[in-house]
Amino acid sequence: MIDSMTRTRPAPAASDADRRLGEHLPVVVRSQDTRIPARRRAPRTVAEMRARLAEVRDEQSCGACQGSGGHTETTSSGGVTRQNWVRCDSCKGSGSA
Ligand SMILES: [Zn+2]
Repeated sequence: MIDSMTRTRPAPAASDADRRLGEHLPVVVRSQDTRIPARRRAPRTVAEMRARLAEVRDEQSCGACQGSGGHTETTSSGGVTRQNWVRCDSCKGSGSA
């Protein structure tokens, strides 16, 4: 019986054309990207994608609650501690501006 969990699959030998294409494409993409204004450029890495999402989220968040939609208030009486959610008045709890 062959134990497939312990065997590594041999990597296919890249032909010279594949290797040259692999070197050529990133150069072309980067040179094309430099001609596109930064705001319109497609994010190419996970870090760029996350930065763009955070930027959009910040633009759309309520300034009063920073997008949370409210806050928790803790009160104590008679030996009992209670936490209540207090809705943001500015955005009516939506978290959006
Ligand atoms: Zn708010």
